[in-house]
Amino acid sequence: MHISSLEKPDKSINGKPQSKYKREIVWRNVFAHLMIHLMGLYGLYVFIVSAKILTCAYAFMMLIGTGMGVTIGAHRFFTHQSFKANFPFRCVMAAMFTMSGENSICTWVRDHRQHHKYTDTDADPHNSTRGFFFSHCGWLMVRKHPEVIEKGKTIDISDLMADPVVRFQEKHYVLLYIALNTAAIMVPYLLWGESLQVSFWTTYALRITFVYNSSWLVNSLAHLHGIKPYNKKIKAVENLLVSLLTGGEGWHNFHHIFPSDYRAAEYGKAYDLSTILLDSMEKLGLVYDLRLTPQHLVNKWAKNFGDGSHPLGGEEEVTLATQDTPLSTNKHL
Ligand SMILES: [Zn+2]
Ligand SMILES: [Zn+2]
Repeated sequence: MHISSLEKPDKSINGKPQSKYKREIVWRNVFAHLMIHLMGLYGLYVFIVSAKILTCAYAFMMLIGTGMGVTIGAHRFFTHQSFKANFPFRCVMAAMFTMSGENSICTWVRDHRQHHKYTDTDADPHNSTRGFFFSHCGWLMVRKHPEVIEKGKTIDISDLMADPVVRFQEKHYVLLYIALNTAAIMVPYLLWGESLQVSFWTTYALRITFVYNSSWLVNSLAHLHGIKPYNKKIKAVENLLVSLLTGGEGWHNFHHIFPSDYRAAEYGKAYDLSTILLDSMEKLGLVYDLRLTPQHLVNKWAKNFGDGSHPLGGEEEVTLATQDTPLSTNKHL
């Protein structure tokens, strides 16, 4: 399970946090993350030398499914509500996300909405101005900055609690995490006679370590290295490698400007498995009301605020009002 940084600020006087933040490492979390990564490395070794081909294929499919639980489920659906989904789909997304071990849906969504609202400030849980390691996974190994705790109380997640699927996942998260991952480990053992140990290392340890790190790269690498076609003043960038590893979440400069767009990108669909799957699921009727940003708004942002890497170039117009901040519309309108 996600080993989160603790709710308590690092120092306090009479119950009130000090204004000056001093980093305090939570060694228990450091140890837990170290163990997870050592397990993941050993899982990679087992995957290469011992796993049956069917187990390898299954581990890969589970990796995609778990990753999609984070990208399509927790991110594009539960956090940004960039489309609507029927009950079975919400259950599947909640289950796949739970298997990632990235905490309850409510906690993940609150952190991510806070990241969008206070991007790269002290109130951002994984503030990338504190460096690659902090924004990647270091933020899970230190006590939270007092600003993160304070501003976190203002993040509205009431919409989530109206969904019985989310309430159930919140209430039974640990049990669901253990049960679903145990079931996933049992499949290769029961269906094609893989050893339980090999199944554990490949379909669990390797998978969750990979999903952790690919998810974290959106917060770290996609805030540090890449182009800024839509707004050169923010740290979020477009990063192909992150998109490849996350199924389309690396077009992060676009996403920070247009967060409710279900594609999380303007271009790059070839590297955006999440969008390809969502388009297919729409045809099957599992999801609907997918939201798109009007192209003229995308073009305006690229022209006015981009770094010039957009095909339209940058800085041609100067008339964009802040009220033009994008409100995406239904894909089919
Ligand atoms: Zn971001
Ligand atoms: Zn987002």
